Amino acid sequence: MKKWIEDLLELQTIDMRIRNMKMRLEMLPKEKISLEAELKKEESEIKSRSEHTKKTELAIKKAESSIAQVNDTIKKIQSNSSMVKKNNEYQAMMSEIAQNKAKISDFETEEITLLDELEKAKSELKEFEKQFQAKVRSIKENLSELQQMEGEVREEINRLIAERGLKENGISQDVIRLYSRLLKTAGDPLVKVNNDICGNCHLKLTPQTLAETRKGSVINCDNCQHLLYYAE
Ligand SMILES: [Zn+2]
Repeated sequence: MKKWIEDLLELQTIDMRIRNMKMRLEMLPKEKISLEAELKKEESEIKSRSEHTKKTELAIKKAESSIAQVNDTIKKIQSNSSMVKKNNEYQAMMSEIAQNKAKISDFETEEITLLDELEKAKSELKEFEKQFQAKVRSIKENLSELQQMEGEVREEINRLIAERGLKENGISQDVIRLYSRLLKTAGDPLVKVNNDICGNCHLKLTPQTLAETRKGSVINCDNCQHLLYYAE
């Protein structure tokens, strides 16, 4: 294999690593945003769960005070019972007491339902809080790992850039010019010829181009312009 090919393959290996590292670096902010959104979602879930618990507790208190109020009303009616003389007035009073007792029964039913709901909500909240703490810990760990990774990736990119500079110096300007232009496009700038086919665009090469690659000349693909090399 010609020296320019060996050197350029080494440079390309470094450049592909730089390309991957830069892609990784571009993904990091997105990962950070998605982790932060996850954290917010967890926090809002716990907030809505504890609000629901508080609302249920308030509704229970309200039912209890309604029961007390109706009981007072019944007592008042009963304390006035000595004033009632006529039979029809007595019937009306008894009916009023019965109506109020029915109200109490409704409030008690409501309270029982609410107490069940509260118990369920509280135990769910407790379980959720346990999971929440574990989740938050894991999200925060991931966030700090991301930050550390970002620093490491930047360092690695700088190191690779210095390394590629040294490699590039050993290669002819003409080859570097062709290579640098291709480096801005997708795929490897220098590709191997496989079964008379370009390793980048996968089209068949002309016999003339193939002959040049076998000689180790600096030659482009007839179709995609990528640099070609031949290896046994
Ligand atoms: Zn090609």
